[in-house]
Amino acid sequence: MLRVAVVGSGPSGCYTAQNLVQQDPDVLVDVLDRLPCPYGLVRYGVAPDHEKIKSLQGNLRTVLEHDRVRFLGGVEVAGGGPLTVDRLRDMYHAVVYCVGAATDRHLGIPGEDLPGSWSATEFVSWYSAHPDAVDEKFLRGVGSAVVIGMGNVAVDVARMLVRGPAELSPTDMPQEALSAMAQSGVSEVHMVGRRGPSQARFTTKELRELGSLPDTDVIVDPAELAMDPAYADPSALPAPRRRNVEVLREWAARTPSDAERRILLDFYLRPVEILDEGGRVGGVRFERTAPDGHGGVTGTGEFHDVEAQLVLRSVGYRGVPLEGLPFDAASGTVPNAAGRVLRDGAASPGEYVAGWIKRGPTGVIGSNRPCAKETVTSLLEDTRELARKDVPEDPVTALRAAGIEPVEWTGWQAIERAEADLGARLGRGVVKLADWDSLLTAARTTKP
Ligand code: NAP
Repeated sequence: MLRVAVVGSGPSGCYTAQNLVQQDPDVLVDVLDRLPCPYGLVRYGVAPDHEKIKSLQGNLRTVLEHDRVRFLGGVEVAGGGPLTVDRLRDMYHAVVYCVGAATDRHLGIPGEDLPGSWSATEFVSWYSAHPDAVDEKFLRGVGSAVVIGMGNVAVDVARMLVRGPAELSPTDMPQEALSAMAQSGVSEVHMVGRRGPSQARFTTKELRELGSLPDTDVIVDPAELAMDPAYADPSALPAPRRRNVEVLREWAARTPSDAERRILLDFYLRPVEILDEGGRVGGVRFERTAPDGHGGVTGTGEFHDVEAQLVLRSVGYRGVPLEGLPFDAASGTVPNAAGRVLRDGAASPGEYVAGWIKRGPTGVIGSNRPCAKETVTSLLEDTRELARKDVPEDPVTALRAAGIEPVEWTGWQAIERAEADLGARLGRGVVKLADWDSLLTAARTTKP
């Protein structure tokens, strides 16, 4: 039997495990995760009101319940910790790193670190009950918010900012975040892009959803749309971008209904400074940009301030280096050839990557399927060589010897039960546990 460790239990890790056991009957897979809970960004990134995407957890669950797959939560691979990259490599015939892109990108402008200016990831982690999230009182005193970026994460946070309690209460959001959002006074959200509507990165389905939120107007300035050279005739654009332009065109023609909340989609504005008001965010200064004729933009020297008490930077994720693994700082990925980790340009035996750490933070969840398949094909081509290595009989014994007590599947099931119980006590459905203590206490509670 070939023993493979998959590090990370998000979609790329689960699809990797699935491909391994489906393609080779002689493979045993351990899926390791730093957290006691599986599913990565499906649990901690997909917005709580996107129940349909969340339901993908059902498919990932089937993978982790396969009889040749084992979930081992609470196991962190890190330099200086009990489980380093080198130590893990000694425990398994092969290791596939599916660790995603764990941090957010920065703007590098003055005022970015003022209280009230946060990354979208910090906000998402908070309402998704990530145990490392910090409650920054994101919404306290906020009437107007600015979201910088025109990707799907920006759409998610803009939508969540205007959602009311009736829509959020049926989700699995933690109770504290639900209460804060229910009491929020946010009435205006500006989503701001530095380029034009035909270059926005969101998908049309996600964009369109903004237009059907209760008691919320979506405002688009026709003059900004018209600045885009592709706006007048979008027929040459790739279909997804053309559809975005068509939706925006329709909204620009609407008469606002005087709804209680507004989402304004602003184009051709690049942030140059987060404005300080009494030691907190008071607004954002933007420079008006104009198309440069090559898909980019140039500054026009004209500035425009938007008042806001909350700024969410939603300008993409970045991979972080894992000590002991090579890393390309420019792309934020691990150098690889079809998933084989490259050390000094040569494939490193038994080391692989899949998902965002392999190809960068792009694509939707389904993009991880072909990505995982390619990596698994490479790994299985190497099987004969990999199988020559001596590895411990059971890696869990080796983990315990290193002082690590994994949360196994039964532990995760206990967390699920605790979350269902908490929801029942609160008169809601499942409600996520939001801190390490509650998660680990629940995981150690055996079935009554
Ligand atoms: P993204 O799609 O890469 O969008 C990043 C946005 O930030 C772009 O509009 C980009 O503009 C802008 N940006 C970058 N640097 C900037 C700067 N210095 N100043 C101003 N704007 C800047 O990233 P994302 O929204 O974080 O999404 C990551 C991935 O997750 C995407 O593949 C996304 O589709 C996926 N996702 C999917 C869903 C879903 O399917 N429902 C939900 C969430 C996330 P430029 O284009 O000008 O660079």
